[in-house]
Amino acid sequence: MSGRVHVIDHPLVQHKLTLMRSRDTSTSTFRNLLREISMLLGYEVCRDLPTTKIEIHTPIAPTTAPVLDGKKIVLISILRAGNGILDGMLEILPSARVGHIGLYRDPKTLAAVEYFFKVPDAMGDRDAIVVDPMLATGNSAVAAITRLKKTGPRSIKFVCLLTCPEGIRAFHAVHPDTPVYTAAVDDRLDDNSYIVPGLGDAGDRLFGTK
Ligand code: URA
Repeated sequence: MSGRVHVIDHPLVQHKLTLMRSRDTSTSTFRNLLREISMLLGYEVCRDLPTTKIEIHTPIAPTTAPVLDGKKIVLISILRAGNGILDGMLEILPSARVGHIGLYRDPKTLAAVEYFFKVPDAMGDRDAIVVDPMLATGNSAVAAITRLKKTGPRSIKFVCLLTCPEGIRAFHAVHPDTPVYTAAVDDRLDDNSYIVPGLGDAGDRLFGTK
């Protein structure tokens, strides 16, 4: 793996991820864990965000102190499972703007087809953080970033919970300039394009649809 892949191996992240992987974890616990782990991933993803100094008065003295320019950040959720990460990230980035990208897989061609795309105005001034829990085949992530790039964001980062070597290869073959942040790189994809060992279908586990 190159510097383009950031594995966030903090013990808290790994602990929560293990609980999420277990098939015995309930929908409500899975949802809470995804929200919590997303805050921790967000913390790392924001590590290099620029800050500006503002003047404030503490109870003791006037001073200048750094703040984030949260208005410049746009969180982009790839529907539907991306919304689970979005909820956690918004807790630590409450001023961020939000966009959504909806894609489905054409059953005949297996290509990712866009059915929804809505992002804020003035994308050229914004740093985009695209979220989707599973970077598996990479098809939807590649299509989402390709579409997003047409709006000209200042920068793009991709954040997932889990990926695999096949997903990273496919993603960086098309978008070598977009760093990937993940809690783990698993072994492989199976014949049904599930990540192994993975955690199953993230959307179904998040929304209890199976
Ligand atoms: N999407 C999922 O939800 N899980 C996988 O393992 C792969 C893709």
